[in-house]
Amino acid sequence: MAAKSKKKPAAKKKPASAKPRAAKAAKADKQRGAAGTAPKRVAAILAKLDEAYPNATCELKHENAFQLLISTILSAQCTDVRVNQVAETLYKKYPNPEAFAYATPSELEQEIRPTGFFRNKTKSVIGASKAIIETFGGQVPRTMEEILTLPGVARKTGNVVLGTAYGIASGIVVDTHVQRLSNRLDLTRNEDPKKIEQDLIQIIPREKWIQFSHQIIWHGRRVCQARKPKCVECNLESLCYSKDKTV
Ligand code: SF4
Repeated sequence: MAAKSKKKPAAKKKPASAKPRAAKAAKADKQRGAAGTAPKRVAAILAKLDEAYPNATCELKHENAFQLLISTILSAQCTDVRVNQVAETLYKKYPNPEAFAYATPSELEQEIRPTGFFRNKTKSVIGASKAIIETFGGQVPRTMEEILTLPGVARKTGNVVLGTAYGIASGIVVDTHVQRLSNRLDLTRNEDPKKIEQDLIQIIPREKWIQFSHQIIWHGRRVCQARKPKCVECNLESLCYSKDKTV
């Protein structure tokens, strides 16, 4: 009688992974050594940001593009809260570009002193106001090329003003929060803001550029803070494999 062949017990079926596909794609990207920029993963991150911050917007108080420009110049190395405090009295005394353009520098320096770097900021504010009057007919220009000609204005300020005041998506704001979070979320492997912006505009749909900047800044301020990110509270946690994670 032929011996009965011993059948191996059927291998146990692995339970279906709870991880979303996007997270798997990201893991695969990571293993390949590429940034986690698979379109599905990026779409999942954008959806989570929409879920958490549907109404994210610029936190610098302003009534027009010019005020936003001045507040953004003042916000370098300073919190929005501090800038808003200073701006409240500042815009009553200096209601338009003419008022700033012909301000007494030493007075303006003292008025904006609480925002830090007040000498350079005074030069930028007065210089930008003069250029707006002399070159742009009193209006903050509407293109990145033109806005970058204003003293003290680099791409970050240009993107804030064009995006928030005019709804023009000319790029993505890369401030300290966007810089940190883009790396933590593995949307870039660059440290230089210009390169980060180039990386982000390749993977984020243009219609999301303005809102994405606000949402990432909000997330960086509220949850994914520099020193101790609150990963337990983070709705992006399942998509994040940053070495800075605290869970
Ligand atoms: S899981 Fe943590 S590190 Fe990752 S995005 Fe959220 S807060 Fe930041």
